[in-house]
Amino acid sequence: MDVGASCKGHFAAENTEDLIRVVSEHLKTKHKINIPSRTIMNFVAKNTK
Ligand SMILES: [Zn+2]
Repeated sequence: MDVGASCKGHFAAENTEDLIRVVSEHLKTKHKINIPSRTIMNFVAKNTK
């Protein structure tokens, strides 16, 4: 999936729920960004095909 310019190709997950968790953790640890999981869910829904 594509998660924006700085995050391209970082993520691998079995399903949407898992992906949200992975993205959330990644943003927190690597980018110091804390996004509510509901926002991530919307983001993932828009950006996955
Ligand atoms: Zn990243």
